[in-house]
Amino acid sequence: MSILGRARAELLALKPYASARMEARGGRVFLNANESPWPPPGDSGLGLNRYPEPQPDDLLAALAGLYGVQAEQVLVGRGSDEAIDLLVRAFCRAGEDAVLICPPTFGMYAVAAGVQGADVIEVPLAGDFSLDVEAVLACIDTRVKLVFLCSPNNPTGSLVPLATIERIAEALRERALVVVDEAYIEFAEAPSAAGLLARFDNLAVLRTLSKAWALAGARIGCLLADAAVIGLLRRIMAPYPLPTPCLAAALAALAPAARNETARRIAVARSERARLAIALAALSGIREVLPSAANFITVRFADAAAAYRALLDRGVVVRDVGRYPGLAGCLRLSIGAPAENDAALGVLAARREAA
Ligand code: PMP
Repeated sequence: MSILGRARAELLALKPYASARMEARGGRVFLNANESPWPPPGDSGLGLNRYPEPQPDDLLAALAGLYGVQAEQVLVGRGSDEAIDLLVRAFCRAGEDAVLICPPTFGMYAVAAGVQGADVIEVPLAGDFSLDVEAVLACIDTRVKLVFLCSPNNPTGSLVPLATIERIAEALRERALVVVDEAYIEFAEAPSAAGLLARFDNLAVLRTLSKAWALAGARIGCLLADAAVIGLLRRIMAPYPLPTPCLAAALAALAPAARNETARRIAVARSERARLAIALAALSGIREVLPSAANFITVRFADAAAAYRALLDRGVVVRDVGRYPGLAGCLRLSIGAPAENDAALGVLAARREAA
């Protein structure tokens, strides 16, 4: 049985909307989509009067090449947030099915489940923020359709080893789709789970251009998965998920010269992360610096509220993650440009001197 057997049966039978743009291939005069025949005044050549390609071949090819998969294994949407939402809607029946998450972790998995009316089963990370594999496997019952694993995990920065992902995917074959969220993997020195896709049709990998690729504002994220899973999500996704200017921005970012610049920035982020970890650990008001494989660093303070206020007073905004289980007293600092990191460090060091 394919993992599609665990998707909502009524969706497999649903006749998808056939958008005008999909029928337009080969045309010359387009009178099929009730568009304006004229570009908007001031159009800079993008032709925004026309609906965009639902899943443009050139972007799919570029992303497939980047991630080492086939184009039919890629679904592009409005950030990986959209893919999370589509997965939950495609697999979970309201009031019956469930997703499994490992808190403290990214909040959107539980939100998407809540919106869909699916239950959320929580298997907390261990004390060192590693995944409790036995507990995850023990909590799988027939209601669980999706298992979300975030690696590197937001907000702890911890990695899930590939061998662990492999073990869980193997144990859950034909039972649940294992979704590995790799939003921050470019900042880790660890391989992507995309390399396991050929062996597991019950594995899916979330990637995004929002972080390392500097395109958070363009909202381009993707799901890598078995072609059958991608096919199902395409059928239920809104007809035109990719605005034309965002497609142009993504293609520009993925061009060879831009890729070199991205690689250089990733190297800077990694070295800044190492520098910050050492500098922060030396400050007296700091209890713990969580080891991070991402472009942020989570720090436990003796007095997080005071540190947060001191930073904000100087215009430095960080994320208070103290509400997450296991993260009381923690703030999450994104790795900024060197001068921005210096600004944060300067405020925190001055607090210690004042104390
Ligand atoms: N996954 C994780 C772990 C994240 O931290 C985020 C954004 N903060 C996302 C997914 C969503 O990213 P986007 O929708 O911008 O691709």
